[in-house]
Amino acid sequence: MFESAFAQLRYAASVLFAVPFDLRSLDRLVDGILATKQEFGSLGADSAEFLGGPELDEETRRDVQIRRFRKQAVRAAEETDYYSSQFTTLGVDPSRLTFEDIARIPVTPKKALLNNPDAFVRRGSNPAFRTTTTGTTGKPTSVYFTAREIQATGLLAAISFLQSGQITPEDIVQISTSSRATLGNTCFSQAVQRIGAVWYQTGLVDPAQALALLSESHHLPGKKNRASFLNTYASYLGELVECGLNSGYSPKDFGVDHISVGGEIVTEGLKRRCRKLFGSVEFIQSYAMTETWPFGATFCEEGHLHFEPSQGLLEIVDPDTAQPGKPGQTGTMVVTPFAPYREASVVLRYDTEDLVQPVFGPLGCSLKHWTATTDLLGKLRLAIRTANGWVYPRQIREALESLEEVPLPARCGFWAIEGGVAVEVAVRKIDSSIRNRIGQSLEERGVPVCELYLEEDPSQLQHQLPLRCDLREILFERSVIKL
Ligand SMILES: [Zn+2]
Repeated sequence: MFESAFAQLRYAASVLFAVPFDLRSLDRLVDGILATKQEFGSLGADSAEFLGGPELDEETRRDVQIRRFRKQAVRAAEETDYYSSQFTTLGVDPSRLTFEDIARIPVTPKKALLNNPDAFVRRGSNPAFRTTTTGTTGKPTSVYFTAREIQATGLLAAISFLQSGQITPEDIVQISTSSRATLGNTCFSQAVQRIGAVWYQTGLVDPAQALALLSESHHLPGKKNRASFLNTYASYLGELVECGLNSGYSPKDFGVDHISVGGEIVTEGLKRRCRKLFGSVEFIQSYAMTETWPFGATFCEEGHLHFEPSQGLLEIVDPDTAQPGKPGQTGTMVVTPFAPYREASVVLRYDTEDLVQPVFGPLGCSLKHWTATTDLLGKLRLAIRTANGWVYPRQIREALESLEEVPLPARCGFWAIEGGVAVEVAVRKIDSSIRNRIGQSLEERGVPVCELYLEEDPSQLQHQLPLRCDLREILFERSVIKL
């Protein structure tokens, strides 16, 4: 047993960076944190510093990253079909790569993994779990994981939630994500039950049913008396807010204190309107995707996305040249998760197609030692480049969801026209004042809107952006259950 939470978390940091994952050590660590929490009530202020990994100066960071990149590149070249042929063609020795050489390796496009996921699996790795993306934007992509990767990720998530106090054994957790999102659902639910909290999966059912479950009273020994943690997508949260306020729900009907929301662009308007329904909840935002799991980003208090540099390499590349972008330039995130993560499927320089801008220091936020970007601006293929610069899905969504006259989630589309963009959006009621307010809100966010089309019936929209809430799961009964 450890002497203090401080020591436990220092130990956690060492475990996180050891190779290979030691499941028993991670499991003992969860027990240790739970015991400390039970005895002292909290883990203390020291704890927050450790689970994020060591603070690295620039020279050390580059050294750690190139060594880990080389190791992953050697495994990829020697043990996967996709990269062995690529390195042969390139004539590059992966064990001698320098930082400058990394850009010589072609980015791995989504379609390569989509078309042949088996070619990315390491020989001898014993994959146990095939997960797929939910396919909001097309045919699902598959990625393979070992059983140990999944167990380790669940334990690491449990440690992280306990350390932050975001999920504790008293919590009741509602997971309102697609039931087909098996990677996130599996790792998250394993973390929750390892903590000793209760979880249940609703899927993306009729929002009225999800709200009924959230407001249900419970009398479970040692637990809160209502669902206290909600894990969902931005668009489905928007549907819950819209349905809940229209149905007369108010904060007194719920006990939710944390909402983990992601998978899509999360707007300030959504969060503000969400508090009308659920009260003063804390939002947890992060960035992760199946193809590069578990290397992802944490959202800091100043709104940056931060990537822990010893867990993977983030590059922001020019979408035109696939070469490293210039400072301040918008680019797509290209991601390489390092060992010990990714025992089964290996990806090098995976093109996420997600647009961001790099953020340079000196920063004053709590994660200032990690690589920083702006929040997501949207998918490259959904963004539009005009003569005067980019127009991003984020600008459109922020502008629209800030307005009460636009139902949540904002159902909208935009496309290039002469001089700027045309925007279409579903509104509650069409009149001249809402037209003016939407136009003004778009212009305030720098959208060069030249044509604006309003519809009261969302099915009339011609270019609607995809939303995860439309991966709707049906119920056996036509009517919503009464609780
Ligand atoms: Zn920050």
